[in-house]
Amino acid sequence: MKKTALVTGGAGFLGSYLCERLLEGGLKVICLDNFITGSQRNIAQLFKSRDFRFIKHDVSKYVDIKEKIHFILHFASPASPVDYLNYPIPTLKVGSLGTHNSLGLAKEKKAVFLLASTSEVYGDPLVHPQKEDYWGNVNCIGPRGVYDEAKRFAEAITMAYHRVHKVDTRIVRIFNTYGPRMRKNDGRAIPNFISQALTNEPLTVYGRGLQTRSFCYVDDLIGGIINLLMAKDGPRPKGKNGWCHCPVNIGNPNEMRLIDLAKTIIRLSESKSRVLHKPLPVDDPKQRRPDISKAKRYLKWQPNVGLETGLRKTIEWFREN
Ligand code: NAD
Ligand code: UDP
Repeated sequence: MKKTALVTGGAGFLGSYLCERLLEGGLKVICLDNFITGSQRNIAQLFKSRDFRFIKHDVSKYVDIKEKIHFILHFASPASPVDYLNYPIPTLKVGSLGTHNSLGLAKEKKAVFLLASTSEVYGDPLVHPQKEDYWGNVNCIGPRGVYDEAKRFAEAITMAYHRVHKVDTRIVRIFNTYGPRMRKNDGRAIPNFISQALTNEPLTVYGRGLQTRSFCYVDDLIGGIINLLMAKDGPRPKGKNGWCHCPVNIGNPNEMRLIDLAKTIIRLSESKSRVLHKPLPVDDPKQRRPDISKAKRYLKWQPNVGLETGLRKTIEWFREN
């Protein structure tokens, strides 16, 4: 008997790769999505599999699924700053009500629950690099607060369901991830820069471009998430949370300035574009780099795809699409 996984947000960038990887791993997959930022195109190839099923639904509303489910991966949420600024209330709802509904379903089905959290829970971090035990520096009433606080609430309710209802939970804090299938207009730095470079338009670097990020290629990220989903915690003192129930950073620690990212993309795509500086968005984090020692130690995971290799594959995909 095959086990079944439910992926909320499965028609999005990361969700579609997860559905694919879970099917390849021999699971049945139910993908639930309302297409607010995802697309049918991302999952079109998955309908070939008899083990794949799609449900069009808003996870912030009650979710009713009859069959047995063994794993729930809650990935539904607008994820790019442009998207969550366009959809502030749906973002707050999917992080709160959507997470509550998904946890309720996990409790009912006795399923393992994995929450897609984010490096944004660290806000504009005062500790660098960011380790899981850093509590963050978030402006809860700023424009990014709708996303950051929704994810912080999502983490809090996930831990509460683990402690109170004994749901077997996991929390992955995902750092900036990129690759084929990102929407050209989703507003994030890499799809913006690549689509601008391929049309020889100026690359819009916000501020002086001295802010840093650490970019992870999607294949690496998905590998880390699957390891976390399948992880088991060993013996532990009574009353203590196992390591795998507390958040784990997954990302690539290769940190760089945005201005250098823009120049790299111009070079790799052999573009004639120049750089155009635009105002820095409010509360844009100045620095970000994951400390991945926990993932290395417990999941035996680390990223393998270098930035230039990942960017070349992504540029190629944008060229073809
Ligand atoms: P995405 O926008 O491509 O995917 C999100 C998917 O969720 C979309 O298909 C969207 O339609 C769906 N969705 C949103 N609200 C929904 C709702 N109420 N009901 C049903 N479906 C809904 O974004 P992504 O980059 O694939 O991000 C996926 C998850 O990973 C998000 O939870 C995001 O917060 C998290 N994350 C991503 C990154 C990254 O770098 N890509 C970084 C940190 C965290
Ligand atoms: N950024 C930029 N130009 C763009 C889009 C983004 O300079 O066209 C900057 C943005 O200000 C931020 C960084 O790139 O400092 C990463 O932004 P992104 O939206 O990719 O993700 P974030 O890490 O901010 O969630």
